[in-house]
Amino acid sequence: MTEKIAIVGSGICGMCTSLALAKHGHQITLFERDVPPPAGGADQAFFEWDRKGAAQFRHPHAFLGLMCNLLQDNYPELLEDFYRAGARRIDFADMLAPELLSKYSPSEGDDKLWILMCRRATIETVLRRYVERIDNIEIINNCNITGFISEEGNTSSIKLKGLNYSKDGQNHEFFSNLVIDASGRTTKFPNWFRLQGATITEEKDNAEIVYFTRHYKLNDGVEEPPRHSKERSSGDLGYLKYGVFPGDNGNFAVILCLPIDEKILRQAVLSPEGFDAIGRSIPGLAPWLEKDKITATTNSFGMGDIQAVWRHYVTEQQPIAHNFFAVGDAAVRTNPLYGRGCSLGILHAHILADVISQSEDANQRALSFERRTEEEIRPVFNSSLNEDKSGIKRALAVAQGRLVEKPDSFKKWFGMAFGDALGAAAKYELHVIRGFMRTFNLLEKPGEFLKSKRIQLTVFRYMLRGRKKNAAERIVSGPNRDQMHHIIADMSSSEAL
Ligand SMILES: Cc1cc2nc3c(=O)[nH]c(=O)nc-3n(C[C@H](O)[C@H](O)[C@H](O)COP(=O)(O)OP(=O)(O)OC[C@H]3O[C@@H](n4cnc5c(N)ncnc54)[C@H](O)[C@@H]3O)c2cc1C
Repeated sequence: MTEKIAIVGSGICGMCTSLALAKHGHQITLFERDVPPPAGGADQAFFEWDRKGAAQFRHPHAFLGLMCNLLQDNYPELLEDFYRAGARRIDFADMLAPELLSKYSPSEGDDKLWILMCRRATIETVLRRYVERIDNIEIINNCNITGFISEEGNTSSIKLKGLNYSKDGQNHEFFSNLVIDASGRTTKFPNWFRLQGATITEEKDNAEIVYFTRHYKLNDGVEEPPRHSKERSSGDLGYLKYGVFPGDNGNFAVILCLPIDEKILRQAVLSPEGFDAIGRSIPGLAPWLEKDKITATTNSFGMGDIQAVWRHYVTEQQPIAHNFFAVGDAAVRTNPLYGRGCSLGILHAHILADVISQSEDANQRALSFERRTEEEIRPVFNSSLNEDKSGIKRALAVAQGRLVEKPDSFKKWFGMAFGDALGAAAKYELHVIRGFMRTFNLLEKPGEFLKSKRIQLTVFRYMLRGRKKNAAERIVSGPNRDQMHHIIADMSSSEAL
């Protein structure tokens, strides 16, 4: 049976949900508060699109293997559209350090380990144009969803039957069989449910970082710095994480991520000069920021409120609402540093389309969606949360001038020694980095590769080298925290002269 389905939000997950459902023949209407992308190409979309509805729109995005393979398997012609707009496929071999590249020969599964790089504006615009061409999907722009319509009567759970929205100063009603919330991190649905007496519980953990970005373009005739260089273009100095996002059409972005308590550095990166001075002092970023080779295309800008959030729409096997589903950031959010949001959102969209196609019963659908979300997304969410927690501990230790963490038990020591040995092995052993990249690209549950006996034996062999030697492999070259504070102080005093 085909159904009439309303989706709130035409961001990346809203559009991917519409595609997944449209394949089953449903009639989809996407409601979007923002204006559509302007006419033109990637630059018009990046510089001119008024995209207030997605605050992260101008921050760089990388699209991981999970998303790329789902797109390739289901919408191969869409990928061709991305490439035509300038997006680039970065394969496993392209990401290898020089030590490993010389040993590399292709192996089964390597073709799945790829990412797509371009500005988010490019992906979103191309995706939007593709969705607009599909007959059973309609997009209503410039409209604000203001609430939902539910069946009257004393039922134990709220049954949705449509949406209220305002457009051009007029209020409207839209009736549908299903309502899907893809309205992102600022979703209003939990509050609307609360107003009807239903409680949406939330797991919420602050990653305690602020994420800063600046965009640049390579000057005419300038090539990107070599990819396989010894100094990696992303890394963690303990008090600062950094990375380069090569984009489309000669554009690229640099990100600097700081703990919320690093007040002096946070202040410094807000000025374009401070951002560049910090970037140039880090050997992995310096080749990207050579003055006469690039032109900055934006100032530096930041985004806070970086939280891991999980919203529960089913409690004790009871759906809070029937005919309602939340996907993407509206349901589950992870720290953007790991680049997992869009991949998890698309996975979520495909889980939902599957669940809807397998049962017509509203209760059954809500419970299966909840179960599959827990099974397939929870492991990634938990692992992201653990990474956030160790990041917070590490930043605190560095700020206090301490060793990262001293083990207080054999179990802890073993865990840390294993982690160090794994990091070192991933640097020199192709089969280990392959496993690591399967986890990174979300192609398997986090850490699944560690079940391989071959990988375990390799890691144990590295443990025999001693913890000190393995731990040293993690060290990223760059100024320590005190040196970075001096760089900023010197810059401020020379500006004052
Ligand atoms: C700084 C930063 C960097 C990131 N980097 C990456 C990355 O590298 N890779 C990655 O995969 N993910 C990344 N993410 C995460 C990614 O941006 C999100 O996971 C993803 O955009 C979620 O998509 P969504 O469609 O659920 O929400 P959004 O993209 O936020 O879209 C929500 C849409 O709903 C619309 N809307 C909201 N309310 C209403 C309403 N009442 N009526 C009508 N429309 C409404 C909004 O206008 C918007 O278009 C990053 C996030 C941040 C914050």
